[in-house]
Formats: sequence, structure tokens, C-alpha cells
Amino acid sequence: AMVTRLGPSPTGFVHIGGLYVGMINKDLAASTGGTYLLRIEDTDQAREVEGAAEQFGRAFGYFGLEADEPEGEYGPYYQSQRETLYLTFARELLREGKAYLCFATPEELTDIRARQEASKAPTGYYGRWAIWRNATDEQLQTALDEGRPYVVRFRTPEDGDRRVSFDDAIRGKLQHEANRNDVVILKSSAAALRLPTYHFAHAVDDHLMRVTHVIRGEEWISSVPLHLQLFDALGFERVTYAHIAPLMKTISGGKRKLSKRKDPEAGVDFYIEQGFPAPAVQYYLRGLANGRLAEVPLEQALSTPLELGEFGVAGPLVDLVKLEGMSADYIASLTSPQVYDQVLIWAERFDPELATVLKAEKDLAVKAIGVEREGVENPRKDLRKWSDFGPQYGFFLPTVFPLIAGPTDERVTALNVAPEVVTAFVNTFIEGYQHLEDQPEWFNQIREAAAKNNFAPSPKEFKKNPDAYPGSIREASQLIRVALTGSTRSPDLHAIAVVLGQDEVLRRLRSLA
Ligand code: GLU
Repeated sequence: AMVTRLGPSPTGFVHIGGLYVGMINKDLAASTGGTYLLRIEDTDQAREVEGAAEQFGRAFGYFGLEADEPEGEYGPYYQSQRETLYLTFARELLREGKAYLCFATPEELTDIRARQEASKAPTGYYGRWAIWRNATDEQLQTALDEGRPYVVRFRTPEDGDRRVSFDDAIRGKLQHEANRNDVVILKSSAAALRLPTYHFAHAVDDHLMRVTHVIRGEEWISSVPLHLQLFDALGFERVTYAHIAPLMKTISGGKRKLSKRKDPEAGVDFYIEQGFPAPAVQYYLRGLANGRLAEVPLEQALSTPLELGEFGVAGPLVDLVKLEGMSADYIASLTSPQVYDQVLIWAERFDPELATVLKAEKDLAVKAIGVEREGVENPRKDLRKWSDFGPQYGFFLPTVFPLIAGPTDERVTALNVAPEVVTAFVNTFIEGYQHLEDQPEWFNQIREAAAKNNFAPSPKEFKKNPDAYPGSIREASQLIRVALTGSTRSPDLHAIAVVLGQDEVLRRLRSLA
């Protein structure tokens, strides 16, 4: 069984890549009967944003990526609450001479860096010029007595090979330059307790949390040599590493990583605000991971476990059009009440006015969603995300309709039919209107009213002799469509009339008469 984890830093922005890596971690753990952990890496207090961890939890909850073990014997899962653990292990390294206190001032560090650059030494930046690496006990004691600030540095092993090789579960055997840097493991801090650096916390936490597989973004590959040194120095059993290629975006002439700064779709909030259904996003990300997008039906895809071996080394492209297509397929597979519930949940957060109307008009809304959906073989796919409900179905709701339809005279002008003809035709239609159940008979009423008002019986006929008619049956139907929906495009008119009911149909017709 695999124990996996995601280690987000609460910096106020949840990248879709984090969701992607989280999904991979959770899936792999689940498919082996293991455990997926969420560890909040909040040791960089300068970059931390208030409330970011909670925001993170909400975003991940939305996509079904809650931790399997939100609290428990391996916690706490906030690094800021684990300070004493890091201290304990740092003390152990200090005692064994595998770490040392470093009192170097910023000026001294700058100087060391300059010497390193001038030397063009291929490796060994800090270790070789370290001033405190071999300090005597007296020197250390004096510095401590003076109350000088210090950090704890890892004493890089001197005897190791220049290059290290290690296995990556996705990339196979890799060779990298060994780490020669005496990296900081505990940061200097004004507080009594010292916070760990990412590297040290990774080793301590992943060991103590009995993580078996560290599956993370590929930007961490170059840190593996250091991480292996730390695991070895601490006497921990090594973990298996897998480094995931980043999500990419097509740009003219090539591709690049999805950028937090440039691409709205780089943020997880984008998908939540737009109302992409969580399973569609999960499916999509899963398809990106194993390169088998849309090969199988959604449910099968969601229940087929991922395998590290199928991951590509090149970053997959995020294509929103494809995601929307999958999303539309997914929504089309739901029942009308299910769609209603999800739209309402979305609206309560992002469109409270719509939510109020939806609650007041539940029956109508469910029936509206059912038009060309319930009982048909190929349901309409006009909802790609929950936010599409307003533009696509809002006209059904009497209080929303006027907002969507706009001023009556503008609608009439857009029809290309003389206003007096519109009035006459609509009046004829209203006079004989019967709210019939039978679709062909219902449409006959449009045909009859059109004939009475001298509309051509077919578009062809109208084209042949455009001066003889005010329009054809097509324009006449469009008139009714605009009257009932405010738009020139809509689902089946009769189905709409049935949902609206006779009174509302007549009310809308009269507004055009
Ligand atoms: N806190 C690190 C990050 O935000 C986690 C990296 C890891 O998974 O080890 O990228």
C-alpha cells in the first residue's frame, strides 16, 4: 500500500498543477489501499497569506481531494505545528556532527558567494568556504554568548561521489551532480523556536508520516541528491520519488508552462467560479496524466486506477475546449433534479440573486432543465458548466426573463419584420391560441396565424418573391420564439411553451402585440 502526500504552501493561490499532482497522489494511494495525506507547508511565514490554508482545503474538497487522514497519530499536518520535531532531529544531527551552527552575517555570505563565483568551481559552494563549518567550541560559545543570530546547516558529506544516480518512478534511472552545499536546515528566526527549510521538513515529515512515495512537481528533481543525503544522515529509509511534468498551455509557435500571472485557467478558483463539475475536471486531469483522454466513458475512467509507469515525461497540454466538451457530456448524463441541485449550489456562492429565484421556482427550473433532456436519447449539451445555466435557461424564469429579453421594441426591430405586421401576427396567434399537448398541432397554430397574415408558407417561396410577403413561416416562428424566449435560438418551442404554461405564454406574447 502506498502512502502519498501533497505538501501545498499556503501562499494564497491554488495552482491547477497542485490539484493535478494531488489527484495523482490520492488516486495512487487509493488504488493500492493506501493513504493520502495533506500537509500544509507553512514554514515560509513571509510568503504566507492569511486564510490561504482554509481556501486550499475548500478548493481541494470541491474536487474530492480531501486528505484520507485529516488528523491523527501522524499529525499535526501543519508544519508550523511541528517545530519541536524538527528541533529534535536537528539536535540529533548536531550531536553527531552532521550539522553545525552557522553565525555567518549577510556580508560574509555575500563574500562567500563571490568567492564561489570567482573560483568557477563546479561544485561545493558553501562547504568549501564555510566559515563556521569547523569552528572551535570556544568560537561557538562566544558567538552564542554575544547573542548573535544563527542558522543550522547540514554538513555535506565530503567523501561521497561527485555524481549520484537514483531511480525516478516515472523517468527511470537519473544521474545528477551530488550536492556539495551546506544547506540551511533550520532557519534563523526571532522566535525561540526555529522553522525548518523545505528540504529538512521534507525528510523529517515524510519519514515520520511513513510516506512511501514522494510524488511531486518536476522542479524538485534537482533537489533529490540533497534529499538523499538528508535521509541517509538522519538514518531514515529512503522513499520512492516520482516527478510529475508540469501542465502546459499552447501559445502561438509553441507551448509553455501554465502561468499563474498570465493564465486565469492556471488557478483552481477559475474552475470553481466558472462552475466546472468536479468529476469532469477530475476526469480531464486523469486523462492528462495517463494520456488516454476520452478513450473510455467517464465512469470507467474515474474508476480505472492510474499507474506511475504511464505518465509522460513531457508536460501535457491543458485545453479548455476539450474540458468543456467533457463537462457538457458529463452534465448531459445527469438527471434534471441533479443538474438543478448543482446549479443551485454554484449560484448560492457566485450568483445569489439567481439562487433566490431558483429556490422560489424549483419546479419550473427542473422542468426547464428537462427540456430535450428527459426521455430523449441524445440530451442537449448546452450546459458546459453551471454558470451556463443563466444564459441558457434563465429565460424560463419569469423574473429573469425581462432582463434577458431586453426592451420589446428592440427585439421586434431585430426580427426584420415590419412592427405593424408583428403586432397583427401576434394578435392573430393569441386570439386562436390553444395550449395543446400535441406538438404538431401546437405548431399548426403558428402556421395558421402566419397564413392569415400573408407569410409565405416556406422560406423558398419567400425567396422567390420577397416583395409579396412580410416573411415566411420561418420568420413567423422566429417571432414566437423571440416572444417566448427573448432569443432567436432556443430548444423546441412547443417544449418551452409546455414548461412555461398557458398564462406565461400568453403574457409573453402580449408583450409583443
Ligand atoms: N511545498 C512544496 C511546494 O509547494 C511541496 C513540494 C513537495 O511536494 O515536496 O511545491
